[in-house]
Amino acid sequence: MTYRAASADTPVRVERCDVCIVGAGLAGVNALFVASQYLSPSQKVILVDRRDRSGGMWVDTYAYVRLHQPYGLFTAGNIKWTLGQDRSYLATKDEVLTHFEHCLAVVKQRVQVDEYFGWTLESHDESDGIVRLTCTSSDGQLMVVEARRLIKASGFGVVPNDPLGISSARVVSVSPDFCDMRGDEMRASDAPVWVVGGGKTAMDTAHTLITEYPGREVNLVAGSGTFFSNRDRLFPVGGRRWWSGTLVTGIFMELGRRFDGTNETDVASWLRDTYGTWLTPTTGNYLLGLLSESENKTIATGLNEVIMDHVVDAVDRNGETDLVFRSGSAKTIQPGSWIVNCTGYMLRGDHPYEPYVSDSGAVVSVQPRSATLHLTSYMGYFLTHLMFLDKLRDIPLYELDAPDLRKKSNAVFPYTLGSLAMHNLSLIVDSVPHKVLLDCGLDLDRWYPLPRRMIGTARFMLTHRRGREHLRQTLDTVRERFDVRCGPLGYA
Ligand SMILES: Cc1cc2nc3c(=O)[nH]c(=O)nc-3n(C[C@H](O)[C@H](O)[C@H](O)COP(=O)(O)OP(=O)(O)OC[C@H]3O[C@@H](n4cnc5c(N)ncnc54)[C@H](O)[C@@H]3O)c2cc1C
Repeated sequence: MTYRAASADTPVRVERCDVCIVGAGLAGVNALFVASQYLSPSQKVILVDRRDRSGGMWVDTYAYVRLHQPYGLFTAGNIKWTLGQDRSYLATKDEVLTHFEHCLAVVKQRVQVDEYFGWTLESHDESDGIVRLTCTSSDGQLMVVEARRLIKASGFGVVPNDPLGISSARVVSVSPDFCDMRGDEMRASDAPVWVVGGGKTAMDTAHTLITEYPGREVNLVAGSGTFFSNRDRLFPVGGRRWWSGTLVTGIFMELGRRFDGTNETDVASWLRDTYGTWLTPTTGNYLLGLLSESENKTIATGLNEVIMDHVVDAVDRNGETDLVFRSGSAKTIQPGSWIVNCTGYMLRGDHPYEPYVSDSGAVVSVQPRSATLHLTSYMGYFLTHLMFLDKLRDIPLYELDAPDLRKKSNAVFPYTLGSLAMHNLSLIVDSVPHKVLLDCGLDLDRWYPLPRRMIGTARFMLTHRRGREHLRQTLDTVRERFDVRCGPLGYA
């Protein structure tokens, strides 16, 4: 076979491997961990990522980001951290990135991994049992990879946010991804800050500003508001792990039982009032984020003003500077104010639809247009197991076009994801050896001591088959209601 050459007389480089994984974020390293369990030490994995190192979105997200969950629960497979902090510690960006490197090092002890950082997958095709990928490097080289299996773990595909496009010449519009709130510029100024957004980035940003600069005017424009899972309820610390808090699987099971595809308002109220924490008067959004009571209190008491609206622009008019909102109202702000874009990164939906597995079963695609679980990390882990067990095409997992549903209904979105996850996990646990479940280090129930987990697992194992039909009906209802892809492969 001949390949298009990079230039007339440059032969195209061809690399061969057993498995190629594209994407070295959390989904990709979980896929890598799993693949290494099925391969022999002499077999080879090629790991491709357009970024310069492993870590995915953590490589270039804002500098003061912290993990939502206790650090031990953010990993590849069952790989343990080497951090040595208290188990409730929330790792920093650098610590998360170091852990990614550690995960790669652990996997490399089991199987050969050739890394191609700075390389982008442009296209792939399958023929004669071989998947051929065309990749280009950041400096213009071309490479063909021939693999028996391909796992495309582009995941959430988060990219840094730009500053908001603002007409006013009298404000400073920044993105946290390019402007550290703890940096010299921000420190040198005492002008008010307007944090735009109500989710995790906005909370991290407001918290950082309020704690770094006591007395500084910090304001929040929170859209329709967001509630968070209450970290203290989900992850109680010390001895309370034995008797307090609720296992996350238990919450998902209850969520799945309550949600019927039409009652999202009731389910949101129940979830928020039972397990949530929030600081805005309304909470139209929930995106599985976590916040502790003390973080919430620090932010709520430190904020000068909270506006429930969406920023459209800031304009200079009549000698003043006004923030202009989607509702049509405006607010005069101090010249020199900072506007920090903390609007969402997730689920922008620019990835084209692709089924989560190809007809042959040789290509798995982990991304939200054909979501099978609530998080890409879990998809990377479980879909890779099912791929190697040759079961991925046999079990009727539901796939959901998550960005499309989010666009059509923010309100129904998180509960549908919950039902999807519970429906598909119910099928998965019946198809994989028990060890697959035990080795899933992403499982948030691992926060709790073993006896509590065993009770939770027993409850799930006893009831999940009975609950599956209800979950299926819920997902079918959402599909009919919103005309969204939500069903078994090929359903469309
Ligand atoms: C601000 C923020 C904070 C978050 N905090 C948490 C948290 O605390 N805890 C948590 O569990 N989750 C958190 N998340 C969710 C987070 O996105 C996931 O946990 C996880 O890190 C996503 O991993 P991923 O592998 O799915 O995607 P990514 O991290 O986006 O990785 C995908 C990788 O694929 C590569 N790629 C894609 N296409 C190609 C291509 N064609 N060729 C080559 N490479 C390609 C990309 O370069 C990227 O490196 C957060 C998200 C955001 C935006």
